[in-house]
Amino acid sequence: MTTAQVLNPATEQVVATVELVGVAETDAAIERAQRAALTWREVAPGDRARLLRRFAEAVDADLERLAQLEVSNSGHTIGNARWEAGNVRDVLHYAAGMPERLLGHQIPVAGGVNITFHEPLGVVGVIVPWNFPMPIAAWGFAPALAAGNTVVLKPAELTPLTAIRLGELALEAGLPEHVFQVLPGKGSVVGQRFVTHPAVRKVVFTGSTEVGTQIMAGCAQQVKRVTLELGGKSANIVFADADLARAAATAPYGVFDNAGQDCCARSRILVQRSVFDKFLELLEPAVRGVRVGDPTQESTEMGPLISAAHRDRVAAYIEPSTKVAFTGARPDGPGFWYPPTVVLPDAPTDRVLTEEVFGPVVAVLPFEDEADAIRIANDTEYGLSGSIWTNDVGRALRVSRAVEAGNLSVNSHSSVRYWTPFGGFKQSGLGRELGPDAALAFTETKNVFIATQ
Ligand code: NAD
Repeated sequence: MTTAQVLNPATEQVVATVELVGVAETDAAIERAQRAALTWREVAPGDRARLLRRFAEAVDADLERLAQLEVSNSGHTIGNARWEAGNVRDVLHYAAGMPERLLGHQIPVAGGVNITFHEPLGVVGVIVPWNFPMPIAAWGFAPALAAGNTVVLKPAELTPLTAIRLGELALEAGLPEHVFQVLPGKGSVVGQRFVTHPAVRKVVFTGSTEVGTQIMAGCAQQVKRVTLELGGKSANIVFADADLARAAATAPYGVFDNAGQDCCARSRILVQRSVFDKFLELLEPAVRGVRVGDPTQESTEMGPLISAAHRDRVAAYIEPSTKVAFTGARPDGPGFWYPPTVVLPDAPTDRVLTEEVFGPVVAVLPFEDEADAIRIANDTEYGLSGSIWTNDVGRALRVSRAVEAGNLSVNSHSSVRYWTPFGGFKQSGLGRELGPDAALAFTETKNVFIATQ
């Protein structure tokens, strides 16, 4: 078996060595999951719910350990990491309410009774990126398990540790063996096998649009179900009538959270021209004030990037000709640090404006009026999230309806709640996760007619 070293991105020290699963082990795990699916689907809804609740409680009891593991593996700030472990617990508790609520229809028909069932799919493969290893895993596995499927989960190569721990906690909580298996390994090996193995009936992929496109094409060979959560280039639209001080004070947290390695990062700030200069003046102290540093400290607001290679990729977006308005802090010494950076693009075709940087870089640009703001916001292949700052409720609603994105917030930057749906328009994805319908994405609707005459 090959192994991979896992680094702490804040110190560059090795924190663990992980055994990587190959094709043969992946096949064996999928086949075990296939057998386990036959009995898991027969577990009474109330018992499946109870097991998921126990799993949630096990995560809660382990919350601090999971959070510390994420800080050392991913460089997340301890505050964020605790939220992320808590999110797994909450998603599991929410999913525990689903087995008894997978309601079908009774549809009036002549000569009999017509009813629908939501049948589980079988084995579901979940492929997770490195930016939010815990929540993104749970958004896939929790509702899939609730709906009666078994799950094989592949964490990202760089960040497998919390997923491995979640796999142990599931067993400790009493989930039957092989119902939830975590398989650390390469995307091109384990992830690819989820796509090609016929027993995997659905792939849930979160990651780059580039890989997501390949996954979708691969799944098409078997008409395999797929949910895709992909990249973003979201707009934070600030109208002149907004509370400018609040909009400016919060804008850094709408893009630099998790060092900008967030698919929902509001990485384009569109500001109405009449208040553009004023907004930049207010933004500068807010950006300089972001506390960047040791992620183990409670007061830290932004940690390092995930790897040296990723830092190089982010840095390449700042070309010699790029107009940098101002930057925030970054510590010296080891660690993959990059400072919060605000740029003023020259042209709508600038790479920093059209591509997902996935780092702490934000572009600020002016717009003229409401129609112009909507046009610029939609001038991207992505459509994941966005924010609208205005005190005019009519405008807030008009612009919310007009922006082509799945998750919008008005006078706020919050996009994610486990009980509301999440997902992208256009090339940001396909399907939705979370929210009241989450389990339905892991079922097939079956229609049954029973003759009474
Ligand atoms: P990535 O696409 O490189 O990798 C994601 C996962 O896919 C990893 O586990 C990787 O091992 C696996 N993978 C790679 N090649 C594969 C292949 N050929 N077949 C099967 N699996 C394969 O993405 P990343 O760099 O880990 O994550 C960053 C990206 O994820 C960003 O674009 C970001 O916007 C996106 N993202 C989207 C959401 C969302 O919900 N929309 C959330 C978080 C991250």
